[in-house]
Amino acid sequence: MLGGMQDFELRVPRLIDYAEREHGDREIVSYWADGTTTRTNWSGIARDARKLAQALEKLGMKRGDRIATLAMNHSRHLVAWYGVIGMGGVIHTINPRLFDEQLVYIANHAEDRVLLYDKAFQPIVDRLKPEWTSIEHFVCFDSDGPDSFEALIAAEDGDYQWAEGPEREPCMLCYTSGTTGHPKGVLYEHRSSVIHAMAEVAPNVFDLCNQSVVLPIVPMFHAAAWGLPFAGAVAGVKFVYSAVNDGAVLCRLFNQEKVTHSAGVPTVWLAMFQHMDATGETPEHLKLVTIGGSAAPRAMIERLMGMGIRVGHAWGMTETSPIGTMGAPTWNWEEMDFEARVNQVAKQGRVPFGVELRVVNEDGAEMPRDGESSGRLQIRGPWIIKRYFQDEKGDCVEAGNWFDTGDVAVMHPCGTMQITDRSKDVIKSGGEWISSVELENAAVGCPGVAEAAAIGIYHPKWDERPLLLIVRKPGAEVSAAEISAYLSDKVAKWWLPDEILFVDSLPHTATGKLLKTALRTQFKDHKLPSASAAA
Ligand code: ADP
Repeated sequence: MLGGMQDFELRVPRLIDYAEREHGDREIVSYWADGTTTRTNWSGIARDARKLAQALEKLGMKRGDRIATLAMNHSRHLVAWYGVIGMGGVIHTINPRLFDEQLVYIANHAEDRVLLYDKAFQPIVDRLKPEWTSIEHFVCFDSDGPDSFEALIAAEDGDYQWAEGPEREPCMLCYTSGTTGHPKGVLYEHRSSVIHAMAEVAPNVFDLCNQSVVLPIVPMFHAAAWGLPFAGAVAGVKFVYSAVNDGAVLCRLFNQEKVTHSAGVPTVWLAMFQHMDATGETPEHLKLVTIGGSAAPRAMIERLMGMGIRVGHAWGMTETSPIGTMGAPTWNWEEMDFEARVNQVAKQGRVPFGVELRVVNEDGAEMPRDGESSGRLQIRGPWIIKRYFQDEKGDCVEAGNWFDTGDVAVMHPCGTMQITDRSKDVIKSGGEWISSVELENAAVGCPGVAEAAAIGIYHPKWDERPLLLIVRKPGAEVSAAEISAYLSDKVAKWWLPDEILFVDSLPHTATGKLLKTALRTQFKDHKLPSASAAA
């Protein structure tokens, strides 16, 4: 048969070429740690990325070499993504909130050769330099000296052709924060990143177009900033970056720059609400807020939707690039009342084209999509992991390429997925499962409660029973009895916590999630009052 289509490798530099050519004057705004604001645009990002690629080659960097960043969100960090990838390198975004031991481990494991970092993280660099055995060059993003990022690229003319090659080459490396054991590296490829970006701009996902003004609060070091730096180029959005995650700064930027889209983990929205409550200031132009990384509490969704903002509830993981599912208005949205809409968004949403989900039982048999049968959530598709970086254990997928997420979920008949827990966090009471996530989400709806964590505690009769730890809102005096009464019509009676304790704060991972392992260790020998009654 005669005829056919062209070769066109799906490589990341095509994204920046497109943004430069078709959306070149669309702005990229950065608010820096020193309180200054700078403005560039997609043309400026592309030009500087070419210069960086030239400079890195002069430093002796070769195709496939890992070049790391330790930085917040700003235009130079975006330049680094496209410049490193453009020269055929692999950008490795390190999370500065990790413990020293993890920071040393991952940079050495990745064999990073260059580190581009923010001045704010100079103490980390000074402290760990002797232990980072592979890093040859240190470049500061926001200093003025001769070793600064600007000096490095100023020496170049930008006359550079992106490295060509196969689309299955690697382009980016992200480590999971590893609540147990060493962090594990997830190696993204050009092809997976481009397809993921194309899927993300869709109306049912991030709903991006050239009119969008996007302020990603999610840091570029957290699961590739959920793919936004790539998806933003596909849509030609205006980006507003803030190197400072503070409610007042963010709210001012939202309004000054007329931000329409934002994305972040639940804790950043809690901080935003506190700012709104304290000052009466509100984001005026926001249309879509994406919440992911942990379950978005119902009360949070309700408040944002009550302000007329669409909430996208995203589920994913570093291993899934990270978009797995996204909650979006359903076809019958018009027929649903506010309550029903909030209930829908409180679930984790549906898959975009490209990924497939299934829930299996302990024997690996697929469970029906009946909204009731819960089991292990598995996922597959072109932007889902097959093997961790340099992992001798081999592939991390089961037959048929299914990757086990470690989450427990149910699938609803309409295709909506609902996370009920992480498999290691479920509270196993009398052979049945209590969802720690649902308990926590119900508890944060109670007036006076700022944050909640539920963990299973040993019980002689039931195996485990829930202990609920509560952080009160500043000035609040809510009691254990009041919280218990509040929960009584929100969860099944046998789910009600056996004990409620108040704490000043709860431990979090480097990506802002509750660190349940630390809590389980802390309360290892805790005795529930109900346990002595049963004994
Ligand atoms: P880590 O922070 O451990 O590096 P990830 O950032 O990759 O890991 O987190 C992935 C996990 O976060 C998921 O497996 C899931 O347990 C949890 N998660 C992410 N989004 C949601 C959500 N919308 N609702 C509930 N849990 C979520």
